[in-house]
Amino acid sequence: MTTLTEILRDFRARLAAGGVEDPAAEARILVGGLLKLERTDFITRGDMQIGAEDAQRLANAVARRLGGEPPYRILGHRAFHGLELELSEGTLEPRPDTEILVDTVLELLKGRQSEPLRLLDLGTGTGAICLALLSQLPNARGLGVDLSEDALATARRNAAANGLGNRFEAQASNWFEAICGTFDVIVSNPPYIRSDVIPTLDREVREFDPLLALDGGEDGLAAYRVIASGASAFLNEDGFVAVETGFDQRHAVRAIFEEKGFVEAVSRQDYGRNDRVQVF
Ligand code: GLN
Repeated sequence: MTTLTEILRDFRARLAAGGVEDPAAEARILVGGLLKLERTDFITRGDMQIGAEDAQRLANAVARRLGGEPPYRILGHRAFHGLELELSEGTLEPRPDTEILVDTVLELLKGRQSEPLRLLDLGTGTGAICLALLSQLPNARGLGVDLSEDALATARRNAAANGLGNRFEAQASNWFEAICGTFDVIVSNPPYIRSDVIPTLDREVREFDPLLALDGGEDGLAAYRVIASGASAFLNEDGFVAVETGFDQRHAVRAIFEEKGFVEAVSRQDYGRNDRVQVF
């Protein structure tokens, strides 16, 4: 038998020795996630006894981490904007910066929160953006589209697990191709990495996030051209498009949308002060 404090100390040391950047935080993510602990448990329940079976599960997780797998992939789920989301092979791991896209959309919908809004999420992945919006907009309905059947299945499970299953639908579509109807908000965190940059990405992204969710084509902007070209046919009168972009893409994305008659309404930066969100 060993205690929570001892396990944490041991994992911190092993992760540090393995070159993990923030070993204390990651030890807590892994141990807390696998044992379903609250943050305060690390302080108040340090002498908690960990049984042999749990100790083994924890040891396996640390071994996977030392093998290069990102911590939330090991847990198989991650928190996003107050929701707990399952990850799978076909889904990008939701990033904290993407919560800014959600917050920007919610700000623009102030005063309209109780309307029966319709949301379209292009490349929904885990469903993160659409489900976070639905959780704050009680009468809205969302359609998440993706090319990956694995992602669609995961998004459906995430909707159900977060009590949003009756207001969320997941549909296979290549962008707008199979979509009918009009929407008040079109959101997307599309693939926006230049193809030639992909091999240089951190191993944790390159090997564990799906290429389909990352690769934005030769100049990284292919998805924005498709979205800007199609969006007006799928937008209601007061509707808008909100997208996440790469840190250096603001001007190029604006030019793409302006060419299709859109005007940049809002631009937001991420936690690292990079341009990250645009609304048209
Ligand atoms: N933000 C992701 C990354 O940094 C990229 C996601 C995307 O292409 N939409 O790897």
